[in-house]
Order: sequence, then structure tokens, then C-alpha cells
Amino acid sequence: MSIDFSDNGGFETEEPLVTTSLTREDENEGSLRPQTLREYIGQKKAKGNLEIFIQAAKMRGEPLDHVLFHGPPGLGKTTLSNIIANEMGVHIRITSGPAIEKPGDLAALLTNLSENDILFVDEIHRLNRQVEEILYPAMEDFAIDIIIGKGPSANSIRLDLPKFTLIGATTRAGQLSAPLRDRFGVTLRLELYTPEELGLIVTRSAGILEVPIEQEGAMEIARRSRGTPRIANRMLRRVRDFAQVIAGGVITRPVADQALTALEVDFLGLDAVDRRMLQSIIEHYGGGPVGLETLAATINEEAVTLEDVYEPYLMQMGFLTRTPRGRCVTRRAYEHLGLTAPGGQNGGLDQLSL
Ligand code: ADP
Repeated sequence: MSIDFSDNGGFETEEPLVTTSLTREDENEGSLRPQTLREYIGQKKAKGNLEIFIQAAKMRGEPLDHVLFHGPPGLGKTTLSNIIANEMGVHIRITSGPAIEKPGDLAALLTNLSENDILFVDEIHRLNRQVEEILYPAMEDFAIDIIIGKGPSANSIRLDLPKFTLIGATTRAGQLSAPLRDRFGVTLRLELYTPEELGLIVTRSAGILEVPIEQEGAMEIARRSRGTPRIANRMLRRVRDFAQVIAGGVITRPVADQALTALEVDFLGLDAVDRRMLQSIIEHYGGGPVGLETLAATINEEAVTLEDVYEPYLMQMGFLTRTPRGRCVTRRAYEHLGLTAPGGQNGGLDQLSL
């Protein structure tokens, strides 16, 4: 997707602010990652639980129980996993569900771990069945069964593994098979951040990037970054460019506002795709309900992207509801888009939560 800012003095970028995948800019996001639980802002519940589990595991001299993180992309699952490794004083190996193609790939990863190490598997819902089956005894008994030979003469031998911690991250816990889900001792859900928490994250990142920022400027970015630190950090970098060119380098509220408006992010953080999604439900489907796949085809986006990236925020903001028959917009969405909702008490909006 490319965005054309033709009314913006030729400012152009290829990289959208809201994506599931990492962009080129994010490649150096490592420098912005907090290294310790103390530095990690927000997610009070998950953090509080982790603090206890880490301390208990350390006191017993054992590896941490297997942990499953779930929640939308960019909320800090990878960051927290690195922090756990730091706090436990162990190594972390990072991989992802789609990267482990064969049982042998997983066996190689597991046998190379040292005692108490962490194996982090991003997008764990995308592991294939055969690989997943190797994981069950590995998680439960710290052993894998390897088949040697073929046909009737094939033999299975059991190989002991070092005690390790598996950390799985997923945007869709519902897609995890029950046997896999049950083998995690700790399941933590990451929530969208509040604007206040994001304000602290933006201020912290600006400090690391050595960009002067006023508190009002940080809050403007925070309010518009849809509850997601990765998006807040991306916005900060873009706003920094504007600040350098038009405001002597300091990020103030007007600069943040001007930059984000030019990037088509409105004052509530909705971008062009969010608005297209809401508009399309209103214009083509009378406000809903409409099935996710149909909606995705109508606006030419992938259904998983809409579900994982766009919907959580639209639902949190009260613009969209999910019903068994499909997605519906709320009266608030009509108002935000400057449209008139169908009249009457229930006129056309009877299944909506208003
Ligand atoms: P996920 O694995 O959930 O997709 P990441 O852990 O990669 O998300 O986080 C994305 C970026 O957001 C990281 O670079 C990190 O700098 C920032 N980030 C996430 N959570 C926090 C936090 N609680 N405090 C500060 N920065 C954070």
C-alpha cells in the first residue's frame, strides 16, 4: 500500500502506519524496547503476574512455566519475552510458527537449548500439525521421540531435552488447538494501552531518539496511536521529520496534529482503512450485519488484517460490534464520519449496541 500526500508539499512514504508486519523503520525498534520489567510501561496485570512467577521460579532454581501471550500485534509480546529472559538471566532463541516447517527443524532448535533457556515462538497458531505433535512431549516431559528408519524396521527413540521455557505469542488464541493451549501453565492477555500509558512510552522513546518533545505533543501522538506502542513509535518518527522541517525540531501539539493529519490519521486515531471499513458497511450494507470475508473483499483488504489489526481498536472505540451474523457499525460511527444514522428509535439499527 502506498500513501500519496499530494497536498502535503510532496511528503511521501511507502510505509503505512498500521500494518501487521514489521516495516523497514521497525527493524531498529530494538533500541526502543524496554529491557526490564521496571522499564516496561502499562499491562499492569500481566506484568504483576509475571513478576511473581519469575521470582518464584528463580527461588526454586527452575525454569519458568511455559507462557502464552495473546493480543493484537505491536502490544509488546516480543518485548516482554526478551524481558523475561533478562530477568531470569537466561538465553532466548526467537523463531516463529511458519518458520518451523518440519519436525526436524523443531528438534534441532530444542536440542540446541541450554538448561532453563527460553524458546520464543511468534505466531504459534501457525505451527503445522506434525511440528505441534513434537512439541507436546517436549513441553510436558522435556523429551522428544525421534523415529529412526522407515517402514516396519522403524524405531522410536526418546531423547531427553534440557528443561526449558516455551513462550508462545499469538494474535488469535482461539486458533490454537486445545492440546497445545492446555500445555501452557501461564496464559496472559495483553490489552490495548491507555493514552496516558502511550504518552509515557512516546516520551521515553523520544528521550532515546534524542528528540525534544512537549508533553502535549506526546499526548497528541498517544491519543492517535490506537492503543499500540509500535504505532506510537512509528508516529513519533514521522512527526519528528515534520518537527525538524517546520518547527525547529521540537515536537509540540500543533506539529503532531499537522503531521498526523497529513498522514490521514484523524483525531481519534482512525486511518484511511478504518474509515473505509466503516463507510463501506454503511454505504453497501446499510450499517450491517456483514460477514468479515465479504467486507474484506469489498474494501480490498485481507480478512485477517481487518480482524487482527483494525477491529480491536474500532470495537474498543465503540464504532463496531461483532454479532453472530456479522459486523455492524454503531451510531457513534455514523456521527464520527459526519453521517446521519437511520432515524427512529430502532430504525435500521436494532441489532446495534448504541
Ligand atoms: P508484539 O510482539 O506484540 O508484536 P513488540 O514486543 O514487538 O510487539 O513491541 C513493538 C514495539 O513497541 C517495541 O519495539 C517496543 O519498543 C514497543 N513497546 C511495546 N510495549 C512497550 C512497553 N510496555 N513500553 C515501552 N515500549 C513498548
